[in-house]
Amino acid sequence: MNYISTRGGMSPIPFKSAVMTGLARDGGLLLPESFPSVASELPRWSSLSYTDLAFEVIRLFADDIPEATLKDLINRSYATFNHPEVTPVKTVGDLHILELFHGPTLAFKDVALQFLGNLFESILAESNQKLNIVAATSGDTGSAAIHGVRGRRGIRIFVMHPAGRVSPVQELQMTSVLDDNVFNIALEGSFDDAQAIVKALFGDLNFRDTFHLGAVNSINWARVLAQVVYYFYSGLQVLKKTGAARVSFTVPTGNFGDIFAGYVAALMGLPVESLVLATNENDILSRFFNTGTYQKGSVVQTLSPSMDIQISSNFERWLYLHEQSNPEALKAHMTGFAQTGALSVPFSAEAPIDRWIRAGSANTAQTLATIQSTYERFGYVLDPHTAVGVHVAESYRQPNTPMICLATAHPAKFAAAIEQATGRSDLATAPAIEALKNRPTRKTTLPNNTQTIAQFIQDSIH
Ligand SMILES: *Cc1c(COP(=O)(O)O)cnc(C)c1O
Repeated sequence: MNYISTRGGMSPIPFKSAVMTGLARDGGLLLPESFPSVASELPRWSSLSYTDLAFEVIRLFADDIPEATLKDLINRSYATFNHPEVTPVKTVGDLHILELFHGPTLAFKDVALQFLGNLFESILAESNQKLNIVAATSGDTGSAAIHGVRGRRGIRIFVMHPAGRVSPVQELQMTSVLDDNVFNIALEGSFDDAQAIVKALFGDLNFRDTFHLGAVNSINWARVLAQVVYYFYSGLQVLKKTGAARVSFTVPTGNFGDIFAGYVAALMGLPVESLVLATNENDILSRFFNTGTYQKGSVVQTLSPSMDIQISSNFERWLYLHEQSNPEALKAHMTGFAQTGALSVPFSAEAPIDRWIRAGSANTAQTLATIQSTYERFGYVLDPHTAVGVHVAESYRQPNTPMICLATAHPAKFAAAIEQATGRSDLATAPAIEALKNRPTRKTTLPNNTQTIAQFIQDSIH
């Protein structure tokens, strides 16, 4: 399988190069040249274990990795999860909750980043190369990425988080990792500022080559790919259990990486009715799917900080496919967006923009009410990101189509919100989080300035 850029300025490259490249050199995002159809495999796939299924899905897109190596990478990546099914599905009332938070940092990003860390190390060892990962995080990416690569040979990681705008637990999960190859930067700015610096550093091709920059943000195709697996895993399991013909998913969304993985599963032939995109007050994406206009606003802080963003990096992948894989049309949109802060596609109130995607948002009061009522009715504690999804899912339920809500974080990561919603401080706990308290930490606070960050990276590499 070869990979192309959404902006059309790159000859096709194989999987391993795509993983090491991250963002394409023309500024575009990488996508596979085609999406294999797996409809005829689904009966067999529906009885596979998580890791066996991961092997079947990933090998289709990673055919330049020997099978035995890939199997080993997958097995090691998911051995760090504390549930035998890796991503179990729980029944809560008439919802199916897909628990994606059983990895080392208790958020769904571990599913992709445990795999990516192993993948990077394996590719680097083969070629005797080094990699300096530069990443922006709104909270969960950073800790999951750090835990994916800490102590790994040939890799350093520089993670920028918006200073003071991640939860105390998220911050501790990053700054308490003291391995020599881990650098935490508290950036005096927003997540979008941090993301813009990452883009600028990658856009400076000279800097990028000299310092062997690599990406772990969800612009890296391998992350999306690892996430495709749990759509098949949960979807096939729920279809089998309910006897339904199709299944829907609700996805708490920020950078559009997770829901795009669901989109890929649907393109490959998983029988999907709808993919419900759920946002908090930072609703650029739900406004787009309900109006046809993608217009930047300003970021507001919410109880679900990992979704507090305005510009969604993976949206470009969807837009490219929506424009019939025409890089010129995509570039015209992106150029216009860079100039005016808005872009539009033809829209009619009669028909949805997309075959699968439906969208809505939940405000803070609705999020708190959903946490409270789900706990009261079913004794199940939702984290605030998942609660945004569960609230929006209500609007899109259909009689004979099961709804799978993706649970993207463990509630213990956001204990303050759980207490605010339920009035109780004893509902959201996890041993991995208790263990963080009183550990020594390390971070460097830096101004929102690309040059300063570039200099810091340079000075840290000797
Ligand atoms: C990152 C994150 C999201 C958003 O996922 P995207 O792939 O960026 O859309 C949702 N919930 C949690 C807990 C996250 O960490």
